[in-house]
Amino acid sequence: MFYDEIIRCNKALNVDVVKNHIYASINPYVGCQHQCKYCYVQADKYSKTQDLSFVKVKYNILDILLKEISKYKIKYFSGVIYLGTSSDPYQDKEKKYFFSSKIISFILNHTSYNVHIFTKSSLVLKDIDLFKKFSNRINISISLITANEKIKKIFEPNSDSIEKRLSCIKYLNLEGISCGCAVMPILPYITDSEKNFEELFFNLRKNGCRYIWWGYLTLRENIKNIKKQSQKNLYYKVLQEYFSNLIDNYESLYRNSFLPDIRYQKIIDKKIINIAQKYNLSYFGPTWKYNKSFQQQLFLDLKY
Ligand code: SF4
Repeated sequence: MFYDEIIRCNKALNVDVVKNHIYASINPYVGCQHQCKYCYVQADKYSKTQDLSFVKVKYNILDILLKEISKYKIKYFSGVIYLGTSSDPYQDKEKKYFFSSKIISFILNHTSYNVHIFTKSSLVLKDIDLFKKFSNRINISISLITANEKIKKIFEPNSDSIEKRLSCIKYLNLEGISCGCAVMPILPYITDSEKNFEELFFNLRKNGCRYIWWGYLTLRENIKNIKKQSQKNLYYKVLQEYFSNLIDNYESLYRNSFLPDIRYQKIIDKKIINIAQKYNLSYFGPTWKYNKSFQQQLFLDLKY
């Protein structure tokens, strides 16, 4: 018989406080079934020695959250709680444990904090009624790096298809939930072309996407001498298999850094902003006040 691996956590929230606002992330699962080849969580900076090849469940996370929140909420009255920063909150385990739903429900019902969800999974739609009840306090960022299904399959082998994620963006926005796209990470020389952004942004706009934001691929080596494969090794294996002609370009773009050259980033930033403007997509990331007139405009746009 197959048993789920459950683990005990000592801490639920990773908290940062800026000017009296609380910014905290929470992840009920460790590891992620999507197994993206660029996953930054693979770096030992984020996952230490944990084996990420299968998913573990933090069985006591709700109890710990309850204790931690009661301490924070008397001190900080506003902030954002992020779900999905180190594993997808709506992967299959959620169908059995409902921890993401319970966490979101608890935060919305018992604090004044907003919630921001990152996911690649249309399973997020199961909580639509909860989101609708608190629509002015929720943002959902669906991650999409390309509109090209072949590229998607190479780098994101286990996640929902592009079409499914676009439908999810459309549905959430039509239901009045602010949903945008995290174009993260941008893969140099693979998803950074004008053609890729044109196709992707055209499709996002067509499906009522409210905003985009983006980030560049990091390539981290392991700092500690541990057995787990580093993020850079994982990614380079894919390069070697499918894009071996690009390896020299990557070497000169990253040199001794885990980020691409800043001059490259500025060129791509400009390209993204130009194409986002062309498709009338907000490129400032999520905002928190839901704009009704935007919603009306969205319905008009979605008619054709
Ligand atoms: S969905 Fe996110 S956390 Fe999961 S494997 Fe992909 S990049 Fe990593």
